[in-house]
Amino acid sequence: MVDIIRIEARWIVPVIPRETVLENHALVVRGSEILDLLPSLAAQKKYPTSQLLPLPDHLLIPGLINGHGHAAMSLLRGYAEDTSLMTWLTDHIWPAEASLVSHEFVYSGARLAAAEMISGGTTCAADSYFFPDSTAKAFQEAGLRSQITVPIIHFSNNWALTEQNHIDQSLAFIDECKNKELITAGFAPHSPYSVSDAGFSKILSHSEELNIPIHLHLHESAREIQDHVKAHGCRPLSRIQTLGLLSSQLQVVHMTQLTQGEMELVANEGVQIAHCPQSNMKLASGICPVMQLQAKGMNVCVGTDSAASNNDLDMVQEMRTAAMLAKVSENDPSALDAFTALEMGTINGARFLGLDQTIGSLEVGKAADLTAVCFSDFSSQPVYHPVSQLIYTATAQHVTHTWVNGKLLYQNNRFKHLDTEQISADVQQWQRTVKALK
Ligand SMILES: [Zn+2]
Repeated sequence: MVDIIRIEARWIVPVIPRETVLENHALVVRGSEILDLLPSLAAQKKYPTSQLLPLPDHLLIPGLINGHGHAAMSLLRGYAEDTSLMTWLTDHIWPAEASLVSHEFVYSGARLAAAEMISGGTTCAADSYFFPDSTAKAFQEAGLRSQITVPIIHFSNNWALTEQNHIDQSLAFIDECKNKELITAGFAPHSPYSVSDAGFSKILSHSEELNIPIHLHLHESAREIQDHVKAHGCRPLSRIQTLGLLSSQLQVVHMTQLTQGEMELVANEGVQIAHCPQSNMKLASGICPVMQLQAKGMNVCVGTDSAASNNDLDMVQEMRTAAMLAKVSENDPSALDAFTALEMGTINGARFLGLDQTIGSLEVGKAADLTAVCFSDFSSQPVYHPVSQLIYTATAQHVTHTWVNGKLLYQNNRFKHLDTEQISADVQQWQRTVKALK
């Protein structure tokens, strides 16, 4: 018989219905699924043999969904700082990757990232990086749910030599993922400046045939636009439109440089957007006009991007940054309120990944991907509104429990499936190797 667990939390915020805060309620989990959500007393009566987990000072929310990242790059956290996107990429990150990237590097980095994300309440992550099978292995061992899109770029690296090689390797990986639990796959052409027209066309036809998403960095910085106009005679979005890529299967990341017409265009095509505020701020790339996009009915989620440009994978703080940045950029303190920020980190992320029938809210029948945050320490007291407390006060360090698909992966600083000593020893070794590059 499958065990039934009854989680009685001080507050439960299911995200759907909107702005609901439940007190004295229990979430009942059977196996991998949410079985019920009801008042605690009724739950005791209805499920008398269930196992009780009391969370007396905690807020229980849907697991956080990180809409964009490059897990392996956690090994490059703090490697190149205080520089613009193009200098960061061309003078630092790409040369370092040329000598470092391998199965081992990606596996170690992805394991480090998975540990950081799980301990910070992230239950699902969108990732794109070379050697995606190594990321998949690390995430699966950790128990993390993910969308792994395969990078396609027109220059050679340790994983693939040509653009066509990248596409071929992508197809092989996507095929392997068909039967992998908790992983969905897709294509990640890196950006308009690093993929050819022919490459984009091939990716589009494979995506349509396989019915899988395309994940793309787009309009990240003003320099990207200027260089693209020089090279192609048009703005990147215009070329992407001409190539026929605009659709609800297109997941675009950043979008800090948009005209009114471009916002209308992406809204009409139902394009999905990931906003990475901390990375955009750190690289001074620009600001995604989240409020305007949401007003046009667009789905905007939150992502951390890699720890090399953030420099952490803390989704709690990423939601706060999204809220703060919208307020200062709109000159309006009511812009992007706490509940909207939580939606962006949960249900909007699920919609972005096409997984909103499975995750993103605490609804009966959905997968039990859950996060508990404790508000008992001095920095969290008093609590007038648990969602405000989560968004404006808490950090990843306040997360005490993380479940994916009904499995408790993390509880009070302890991981169920990860050997933290081994991860740390491995990271120390990579730190020495990376340091020697400088
Ligand atoms: Zn990125």
